[in-house]
Amino acid sequence: MTITNPRDLPKIDEFLGDECFAEAIETFGYTPTIETARAVIDEARTTLLNQGERSATCHPSTEETPLTCELLTQRVLERLAHEAKPGIRPVINATGVILHTNLGRAPFSKKVADAVYEVASTYSSLEYDFEQKSRGHRNTHVEKLLCELLGVEAAIVVNNNAAGVMLVLSTLARDREVIVSRGELVEIGGSFRIPEIMEESRAVLRGVGTTNRTHLHDYERVLTDETAALLRVHTSNFRLIGFTKSVSTKELADLAHKHDLPLIYDLGSGCLSSQLADLLTDEPTVASAIEDDADVICFSGDKLLGGPQAGIIVGKERYISPMRAHPLLRAFRCDKMALAALEHTLRLYFDDEMARRHIPILSMALVEPEELKRRTELFADKLKTHGIQATVEPSSMVMGGGTAPELYLDSWACVIDPALQEGALSPSVIDANLRASSRPVICRLVQDRLFFDLRTVRCDEEDLLIDNLMHAMKTECQS
Ligand SMILES: *Cc1c(COP(=O)(O)O)cnc(C)c1O
Repeated sequence: MTITNPRDLPKIDEFLGDECFAEAIETFGYTPTIETARAVIDEARTTLLNQGERSATCHPSTEETPLTCELLTQRVLERLAHEAKPGIRPVINATGVILHTNLGRAPFSKKVADAVYEVASTYSSLEYDFEQKSRGHRNTHVEKLLCELLGVEAAIVVNNNAAGVMLVLSTLARDREVIVSRGELVEIGGSFRIPEIMEESRAVLRGVGTTNRTHLHDYERVLTDETAALLRVHTSNFRLIGFTKSVSTKELADLAHKHDLPLIYDLGSGCLSSQLADLLTDEPTVASAIEDDADVICFSGDKLLGGPQAGIIVGKERYISPMRAHPLLRAFRCDKMALAALEHTLRLYFDDEMARRHIPILSMALVEPEELKRRTELFADKLKTHGIQATVEPSSMVMGGGTAPELYLDSWACVIDPALQEGALSPSVIDANLRASSRPVICRLVQDRLFFDLRTVRCDEEDLLIDNLMHAMKTECQS
């Protein structure tokens, strides 16, 4: 029955008595359901009243969907579902950018995700020492693993690498000078800037050299009793080219040691896989930094390491030990889920093959191009059976996450040109529809064609991707 008079709108109690609301109340809760229903009815009342006023002077619109109880119910259910959408939800990353900072950097394998679920869903030995039957320290497990894996004397784990750098500088260089090349005073993004982090840590920045060239004697010249450390920062997200010069890590370490000072190395992405390092050519590995004798090395857990967000500090016990007593360590500590994920990720690195198989960013980066091509062709064939024309083309991908910025690696893409599809919408509408899907799809839109790089799409996401595509190409607007 079409409702035209506000008096005919359903009473809230009768309205919610409808069977379909029982399920909604179960899913969304009683209060949100009743409040949404009330809001929808109130809005309908306002609309009817306004229409009443307008129809006195002009003809009522005939194009609007007639207002019925069913329509009101539908509106309430849609609005509840819309509002219940979590802010953080899974997306299908078809960009081919493996460490997409906006999409959560490194994903976990099921193996690691299961380990996180296990400790998150019940009590755990987080700070319990079974042998002593007493309080333990939450970092003991992963720090021991790091020492074994990397052959270092000591390790500390904090919340993220920015916190790691802050803890290192605050502990080792508060109110004293730290020498750093002007070519390494970088901004990483998200307001991590070396000069500002130093200021926050109360370390005194002593910049040496010029933007493009720094020599060993530049460091030597400013060494004084005030010097607390030498700092090297990996210029993760940019590269200097042309007339440049920098001092090798080994030379810097030797200079520091000659003066009984530590060399601190902010490595950024912390690559632990030699296979990945070979692929990315000039990304330094943690192993190379240790070999070059840097004393304190810090890096992220969720960049090239492929684990959870974390800051990892490894090196010599004599410098790391005072960090354990620093009050910032408590403020920067990791939660149990990150520690579990990190522990299980690190364990995989004891075997190259296990790491490659169970650390998604390694599997994605190291997939054989022929294998990716075959997979993309099968995908394009599947699309064809659903009436979508697609081609398979060579493309390129970047690692992302502020690593190897100028390196484009060969990849393959499944390409859809909407202009060649019968009845398809415009490329930007399809792109917007894909992003509005219940499992949003992020792809690349280049010159009116849509590029899907399956490298970053999980195999079990392919069917959902196809469903979303079919829907996105035909639906005028989803949101
Ligand atoms: C990424 C990066 C950081 C910040 O690490 P987060 O784990 O994101 O806090 C610091 N220094 C360098 C050189 C980096 O590349």
